[in-house]
Amino acid sequence: MPDNCLFCKIIRGEIPASKLYEDDEVLAFRDIAPQAPVHFLVIPKKHLSGPSAVSIEDEQLVGKLMRIGSEIAAKEGVPHFRVVFNNGSQAGQTVFHLHMHILGGRHMAWPPG
Ligand code: AMP
Repeated sequence: MPDNCLFCKIIRGEIPASKLYEDDEVLAFRDIAPQAPVHFLVIPKKHLSGPSAVSIEDEQLVGKLMRIGSEIAAKEGVPHFRVVFNNGSQAGQTVFHLHMHILGGRHMAWPPG
């Protein structure tokens, strides 16, 4: 776990977060700057810098992010939701620890801006 990674700090409890789910592999918490009525992040506790860093050994873990995220979305009352993974700064990635955004509760435009 890199010392200076924001999401690793949240995992270690050094920075507070509004947690929605936690187990030994995965953490989910509300986004601090929500872009929709429901906006939360699902992250692996294993530090991976982003989607490009996912290897074969991580495939099951990444699938788990989607399952957990979908279950939380249902509990949050948003059966229709957008899933976003940003990869690289030009794509909008600002935190370089793999995270899955789930956004719901409003109409989502396509294509994304
Ligand atoms: P991205 O731009 O895809 O890297 O997404 C990073 C997300 O992390 C943004 O939506 C931020 O609002 C969110 N974020 C940054 N710091 C925190 C924090 N301390 N707690 C919760 N969400 C955060």
